[in-house]
Amino acid sequence: MQTDFVGPVTRFASLPDTPHVGHDESRRLLGDNPAEDAVSRVIAWAHAQPDSTLRVSHVRDWHDADDPLQCGHLEHFGPHCLKNSPGAQFVFPLDGILPDKELTILNATGLSNFATSDIDEVLAPHGGHALRAGLMGVWTEAKITFLAYDLRSRYPRFQLAVCSALTASSSRENHFIAMGGSAAARSRDPLAGCDRVGARGAANVTAPDNGTQPS
Ligand SMILES: [Zn+2]
Repeated sequence: MQTDFVGPVTRFASLPDTPHVGHDESRRLLGDNPAEDAVSRVIAWAHAQPDSTLRVSHVRDWHDADDPLQCGHLEHFGPHCLKNSPGAQFVFPLDGILPDKELTILNATGLSNFATSDIDEVLAPHGGHALRAGLMGVWTEAKITFLAYDLRSRYPRFQLAVCSALTASSSRENHFIAMGGSAAARSRDPLAGCDRVGARGAANVTAPDNGTQPS
């Protein structure tokens, strides 16, 4: 989760020309106290787990405005998450990480993490295992849904979980539709096969077969 997507904004502030989720969804994720919000607490918990229990991968939008291949994406969504810019920073702290923990940070340049980042190289060695993976991030109806679809397609043994409190969308309606919150939505459920977990849910993580799932 990065500033240009979910960073705090005041209620009546005009949104930057970016794929920001807006005040209400940002506040739902981050709350009023950065030390106590759901995202920061889950991230802190995940970063404190040994790799033998839980592996953590952060996929971040990481754009280069001079790359012709990214021009269309940046024109469509507006300039956002330009590499090394304040807007590309994570909204959660990276301190308190277990000393020997190996965080994986993947740079993505489009809506599909598999098409525009090295995520497949990270996951391929685990493809034959029934890993439990929790997804968190934005937007629920886009990158989270696409990631879940790709994971289900490429790694059918993985057990996926998506937590409503740790995901958000361009609108709350789109979020709940993507989460399959109504009968009509479930009939066209993009996250079919994923477990929906409660507010004390999951991070963007992979765990070994005997690992523990965030709870
Ligand atoms: Zn982008």
